[in-house]
Amino acid sequence: MTTHPCWVEIRTRSLEDNFRFLLSLAAPHAELMAVVKANAYGHSLELCAPAVARAGAKWLGVATVEEGVAARALCPEPGVLVMCGAFPGQGAAVVEHRLSAVAWQPWQLDELEGTARMAGKTVPVHVEIDTGMSRQGVSLDELGSLLARFHPGSPLRLEGVMTHLFAADEADGRVTEAQLALLEEATGKVTDAGLNPEWLHAGSSPTLVAGEAERIAALAARHGMKAMLRPGLALYGVIPQFDPQFEPSKPSKSSESSKSSKSSKSQEPASLTAARARLQPVLTWKTRVAGVRTVPAGAVVGYNGTFVATEPMRLALVAAGYADGFDRRLGNHFSLLVRGQRAPLAGRISMDSAVVDVTEIPGVEPGDEVVILGEQGGECITAFDHAEATGTIPWEVFTRIGPRVLRVAV
Ligand SMILES: *Cc1c(COP(=O)(O)O)cnc(C)c1O
Repeated sequence: MTTHPCWVEIRTRSLEDNFRFLLSLAAPHAELMAVVKANAYGHSLELCAPAVARAGAKWLGVATVEEGVAARALCPEPGVLVMCGAFPGQGAAVVEHRLSAVAWQPWQLDELEGTARMAGKTVPVHVEIDTGMSRQGVSLDELGSLLARFHPGSPLRLEGVMTHLFAADEADGRVTEAQLALLEEATGKVTDAGLNPEWLHAGSSPTLVAGEAERIAALAARHGMKAMLRPGLALYGVIPQFDPQFEPSKPSKSSESSKSSKSSKSQEPASLTAARARLQPVLTWKTRVAGVRTVPAGAVVGYNGTFVATEPMRLALVAAGYADGFDRRLGNHFSLLVRGQRAPLAGRISMDSAVVDVTEIPGVEPGDEVVILGEQGGECITAFDHAEATGTIPWEVFTRIGPRVLRVAV
């Protein structure tokens, strides 16, 4: 165990509760794939994958084959889907560790087919459809030739068809509407080709909390398939923001919404209200006070003296720096929680430490816990607070918490 006094506490019980609540939004129409890529959004795959499996996750979503191998070692039961696909040389690991792989290009199927044939096994594949994001996925034009690879003599087994909804947080839902229409067309081509994959999956956290699981499920059912949604962020207790934000009460009658085909979209769905009440943040990021000093007026603090004490001040050194993923852009612009109060950062964040102004907070001592992200004494710093202060999104805030930061289950 590291003694580096900068760590995150992971409430695995909250993660399990979040999974069960999210599953209740999907059930009985659809299943959930718990997305645990990128070390479970920085929350620790080792702690989080077994927790969601305990809570009933039948599928885990990871980005890479390496992550898939790690997830399989932790969880023998659930399906593990490698969502960014296998690269050349990785097919053998997919087969050996019973992973399923997303594919949308012929060379990816070559890799999987070759290694599966050598091992005398079949390999489950989820074909991704590009429904408009231009990231991963096969176009509808090229889908037919890709599907022809799944002939009876091939070790490739079409287990799923999927797409990624890239604007599900846009409250008017128009982009999603168009994407689902393309997905429907693609799925028709799959069944027309005589293939009958088990799963159709689409939709991440915003789709699920907006109460759209039933729609995905209806699409799947029309083609004799089971539906799945793939939440990530919401599992960790953070609800994506919708744009524009939904009206919590009565539907708005603005000219914008009357132009939209579904003006009732502006009203917050019940599932979103329920999610706000039920989802709990899983992670608290902490460090400790390493020292306290009093400085006279005029003292400069940190690299290049960007902070100058305007009066005699008490400063606390904390044991977290940018090498821990504590974003350097927060220097002089953000506060941490010390003894349940906000302590503003004074000066630049260093690689391994930072300084906060505790002049107004009595009794601060070396060893005191400091909260970088999370709750302390009724005060709270959210992933959105970090994201807003650094011009990014909560997903990046979590995944930037460094490998040096110990993850502990609480
Ligand atoms: C990351 C990812 C998800 C999960 O997205 P969230 O917004 O975190 O819920 C779902 N599907 C795919 C393909 C992803 O890459």
